[in-house]
Amino acid sequence: MAKIGDGGAPLGEIFVERPAKGKPHSGKVLAAVQAHADDIPFFCAGTIAKLIDEGYTAYLIQTTNDEKCGPTRSIGETILSNEKDIEELAKVLGFKGIFNLGYRNHLMDGESPLEIRCRLIFLFRLLKVDTVFTFNPWGHFEENPDHWVTGAAVEAAAWMAGMDKDYPEHLAAGLKPHSVRERYYWVAREGQPYNRVVDIAPWIEKKVEAICVNKTQGPGGYAGRRLKARLAAKGLRLPALDGSDEDADRAYVRLFLLEPFEKLGRLYGLDYAEAFYYIGPKDWSSEVEDYIAKNALPLK
Ligand SMILES: [Zn+2]
Repeated sequence: MAKIGDGGAPLGEIFVERPAKGKPHSGKVLAAVQAHADDIPFFCAGTIAKLIDEGYTAYLIQTTNDEKCGPTRSIGETILSNEKDIEELAKVLGFKGIFNLGYRNHLMDGESPLEIRCRLIFLFRLLKVDTVFTFNPWGHFEENPDHWVTGAAVEAAAWMAGMDKDYPEHLAAGLKPHSVRERYYWVAREGQPYNRVVDIAPWIEKKVEAICVNKTQGPGGYAGRRLKARLAAKGLRLPALDGSDEDADRAYVRLFLLEPFEKLGRLYGLDYAEAFYYIGPKDWSSEVEDYIAKNALPLK
């Protein structure tokens, strides 16, 4: 059975993004736009930790209220419990701020696409977002409407935020048009494409921690301590889960949830990796300028 993060499909030439020296992304801003509390931990936590270390300022945008996911007794408690997990996730990875858009979980395909897009355009302009992480809006085999609706809204908002006639009231309020130049679409389902692999080995413990703070939805969260208790009731113990409850939770993640990222890494000579379909800056002006430099002649 495929695990979360398994089975991306390589497409075209694969670029391996390696750890950079210093702070090459200093001054740049990224936004990771997830639908649910467990998306960022599984799909991009290592890469986000890497890019923050390398200078990015990062914001977390969550589109749903996560009201359906978790063992908590009521819908209200489930929302609150997931919200607390997201606050912890932001602390662990180093996000500067969180925006909860609050759309109802599992129902995003019934929401206004225009409203979601407009809210994202506002945020991309306000935060001056250069780079986004989200779902592939065209991702095959996606069964969760919250995922593709989120991806599609981000994709459209990313370029529209740079236009000067979309939502002129934003400009009257002091915002400026601001295009998102780089997009990383993570691999959420088996068979979704990737053209970039990021070496996350130096940040693997951050990824473990990010999966562990996702207590409400799991998998991860309390899984280690629960397994330990289940075995103890039968008079058994797994030495790998020895230590505190937190140690057991982390050990569980390392033992059972990192394999897809290890397997992907091995294909590219890395210890651990995350995969993305990456779309870089579009810049046609330099091509024109190069042509002018080579071919322009004086009028006389
Ligand atoms: Zn999700």
